[in-house]
Amino acid sequence: MRAGARNVPGVYIMRGAHGDVLYVGKSTQLRTRLLSYFRLPWPAHRHARMLRETASIEWETTSSEFAALLREVRLIRAHLPRYNVRSARPLEKWWVITVSDGLAPRLKVQRASVAIRSRTTGYAAALGRATMIGPFTSRAPLVQALRVLNDALGLRDCADTVRMFMRDAVELFDDVQYPALARTPACHRYETRRCLGPCVGAVGAFEYDTQVTRARAVLEGRDDSPQQALLKDMASASASLSYERAGWLRDRLAALQELELQLQRVRESISRPDGVYAVRGRDGDDWLYLVRGGRVTMDARCTDLGAVTMLQRASGAPPVSAVGIAPDQLDEVLMVEQWFRANNAGRLHGSVVDALRSLTAE
Ligand code: SF4
Repeated sequence: MRAGARNVPGVYIMRGAHGDVLYVGKSTQLRTRLLSYFRLPWPAHRHARMLRETASIEWETTSSEFAALLREVRLIRAHLPRYNVRSARPLEKWWVITVSDGLAPRLKVQRASVAIRSRTTGYAAALGRATMIGPFTSRAPLVQALRVLNDALGLRDCADTVRMFMRDAVELFDDVQYPALARTPACHRYETRRCLGPCVGAVGAFEYDTQVTRARAVLEGRDDSPQQALLKDMASASASLSYERAGWLRDRLAALQELELQLQRVRESISRPDGVYAVRGRDGDDWLYLVRGGRVTMDARCTDLGAVTMLQRASGAPPVSAVGIAPDQLDEVLMVEQWFRANNAGRLHGSVVDALRSLTAE
């Protein structure tokens, strides 16, 4: 390591005895960072303990710090290393709204890190509904707003362990006995008509799925009918002098409006960075990055004419609509967002030509 590593930007991977990836890191001073691990106090320091488990360390250099960050985030995503759980990136701090698995999906508020670890598995992913909406900084307003949204659309909010019986299945196999159908769900949400009752076969799969689709449309800013309905109810409650009910409706409306405000911020952050980013690399190894929907969708070495031409073509495609972040993209979106916010990182350009010009102008 002393002989081979250089003090340039890059990433490193620590592997255990069985080749499993324990940790992925990045540094702008690769050699210094790698050697620093051997001076950490053991067993007090977590990384010193990690080093004891490490059987091999690999590293690769990159052309710039941005390239190192991008490589690091993609390696972490690919390997989910055990020691990166408390990574410098604050995935633990962020919250997202996801659609749960199961016959009758439900909207959930989850930690981003948890959602990413359970990504692309199960029913919701199979149906392409595993899109995460977010990230958000606090949980409480989300939970409150989703409660209102669930009530407005008749969606369930009970635990995943509650068994569901869709009406279609009951009709299809009418000789099958469903004990659950003989009773009410003993759930106040069904009794008060705030849930369509997929647990007692009171709703068909199509009808329920339509409501889930509507919920997604609300979260994606394409449907404000729940807000409009609350406004209408509030006006009629006021007109009939039911001020207590009007106040209750006003609080529910406020919860949805707060959610919409947060969603707008999310949409802005996803859609803001769209363009071509030029990065001057070390030793003249300059790169172009196509940033769309808040993440890097393509890159090209400036000296590679074919790759640059492909990137130019891709940059002319219509903009990505910001509807949410796929689970495996969230960490990269956060990284790009932080990079452009926290660093004197330059800016995105509207075209490849402008981006290349910015490199020659520096
Ligand atoms: S009515 Fe049934 S499905 Fe709906 S929230 Fe209650 S228990 Fe869950």
